[in-house]
Amino acid sequence: MDNLQERIYKEFEGKEIFKQALDNGLDYLNTIFDRNVYPSEEALQGLKNFDEELPEHSTDAKQVLTQLHQYGSPATTATMGGRYFGFVASSVTPIGIAAKNLATFWDQAPAMHVLSPIGCKLEAVVEQWLVNLFNLPKDSCAGFVSGTSTANLCGLAAARYHILKKNNWDVSKKGLRNSPKIRIVTGKQAHATVTKAIGILGLGSDAIEWVDVDQQGRILTESVPELDQNTILILQAGNVNSGAFDNFKELCKKAKAVDAWVHIDGAFGLWAQTVERLKHLTLGMELADSWAVDAHKTLNTPYDNGIVLCANREALISALHMSGSYIVQSDQRDGMLYTPEMSRRARIIELWATLKYLGKSGVDELVHTLYERAKLFADTIRTVDGFNVENDVVFNQVIVRCATDELTEKVLHKIQELRDCWLGGSVWFGKKVMRVSFCSWATTENDITIAVNSFRKALELITSSK
Ligand SMILES: *Cc1c(COP(=O)(O)O)cnc(C)c1O
Repeated sequence: MDNLQERIYKEFEGKEIFKQALDNGLDYLNTIFDRNVYPSEEALQGLKNFDEELPEHSTDAKQVLTQLHQYGSPATTATMGGRYFGFVASSVTPIGIAAKNLATFWDQAPAMHVLSPIGCKLEAVVEQWLVNLFNLPKDSCAGFVSGTSTANLCGLAAARYHILKKNNWDVSKKGLRNSPKIRIVTGKQAHATVTKAIGILGLGSDAIEWVDVDQQGRILTESVPELDQNTILILQAGNVNSGAFDNFKELCKKAKAVDAWVHIDGAFGLWAQTVERLKHLTLGMELADSWAVDAHKTLNTPYDNGIVLCANREALISALHMSGSYIVQSDQRDGMLYTPEMSRRARIIELWATLKYLGKSGVDELVHTLYERAKLFADTIRTVDGFNVENDVVFNQVIVRCATDELTEKVLHKIQELRDCWLGGSVWFGKKVMRVSFCSWATTENDITIAVNSFRKALELITSSK
């Protein structure tokens, strides 16, 4: 029997498992537009095949992949197809998958330029692209993180650092004990990841000053308390249910007048700024200090592509930096200065490839089409007896409700059971609702017809079984 090193070398030389992975992957892609969107019962049962003890000895590499494909592929949700409307989950473009595949072979970590010249180069290039695309202040910087949960954390860490620095308090050294107080002001519809970030940062979610919102979930400007220079005002580009946008222009002006910090959670909505016909939604967003956004939502890159943007480079770097005698900093951009992690994969490669492939007009068309699909769905479902649209459809989110909470829940479960499409539920101003998110480049008008038919059928099945 060969030793482990010899066996691994053989896998590299034979390349059979790489070919098998590609074949399995391509087989999978053949199914995603037509298959049941949620895994079948049988596929879910098949997951039992993973209930095993860690093997005592090495397993054949091909067998490992075969197990994944045989029992894993059917137990995926078809988020890549055109009828997954859950959460704000997007599909992926072929260039995103392909670039990620090539990058897998490179296995780069863009912590420092010396560790990955290509990774750090692409981060520098895309940072500038994004600053231009979002029309941000020209010295703004970007950190490439896993998602908006982390991007919110980073933006708010920069805010915390900056506000305390203004008070001659270096939070990295002195911590929060006995520090000057930071005020947090945000809308009652802020995303849960904002509350979480505030908790992690030790600012305490109990201290949040919650502002009333209107029927769409937008902060009521007149209800915002008096702000001051020790305040972080957190706004939202794209309410996770309704897709609504806060009034950035007015709110940022109010904050800027007293030197408060404004952070915008724009996980999926910030992309409205890149669309000629939708940028009225984000008017004034460039007046904020930090922004969080996901490419793996609206831009349809593979997952694990969040971005924190910050107008104050010094604040972001100071909040997240580390040092050590073995760290090699260059005069080029070192990615780890802008993120909490040191080692992380070069997710920038898929982001760069997707942006280069789409170009500005492609981004505009991709994002605007999501809005058109949402509108078409809303206009169609509203004509079906028994369904109501509860929000103004301004971007990619549609909130649908039946006559009662009970009926809404039953119909939702029936739609999920039918598996022609998938969407989740939510609570909107105390009422149970279905939330339908249009986030996939792949959604066609025909997909919407199929989805509407599924809604209709589900309602018929529920009402006729009474
Ligand atoms: C999805 C989402 C988040 C969290 O982003 P992740 O990439 O899942 O970490 C935060 N805020 C809003 C508004 C979102 O839609």
